[in-house]
Amino acid sequence: LLALPAAAFMLQDQEVLAAEMERTFIAIKPDGVQRGLISEIISRFERKGFKLVGIKIMVPSKGFAQKHYHALKERPFFNGLSNFLSSGPVIAMVWEGEGVIRYGRKLIGATDPQNSEPGTIRGDLAVVVGRNIIHGSDGPETAKDEISLWFKPEELVSYTNNAEKWIYG
Ligand code: ADP
Repeated sequence: LLALPAAAFMLQDQEVLAAEMERTFIAIKPDGVQRGLISEIISRFERKGFKLVGIKIMVPSKGFAQKHYHALKERPFFNGLSNFLSSGPVIAMVWEGEGVIRYGRKLIGATDPQNSEPGTIRGDLAVVVGRNIIHGSDGPETAKDEISLWFKPEELVSYTNNAEKWIYG
């Protein structure tokens, strides 16, 4: 009888934890998809201990790509970049975990692969800035905006992964 409320409390705790866990938007751009790097990229986030809570494949329209990159609309490469993002299938994902926004950027590496450290996704797998294979939100506000641009709330799942107790202790 005593164990029951304790278990219920623990379950509630986990739900609260899951609800508050940080999320980021990650996309494998058309070059990453065409080069067969989907599993390689997913594997790096997965092995780190982050949790996949949303995923789909889509070809964004040019208008959609412009919305995604709206913060860069004054940059000279904006048009080429929007054309490129809409040139083929993109894998759109939401990853969850402690510090996933900031650490996701570390896994990805610097914007220009020439400046990305070996061991990062862009450092290991890309050569030029215009074909740097992956996108990741650069902060909490962009993460929130990008997740809601690419996903409907019902396309994201909250679940407990049994490995979490070994990842977070
Ligand atoms: P990040 O993707 O690392 O957050 P930015 O938000 O600054 O970088 O730029 C978005 C994307 O625009 C980059 O990932 C890259 O594909 C492209 N880009 C950035 N700078 C250039 C550039 N000088 N020439 C061409 N493309 C660029």
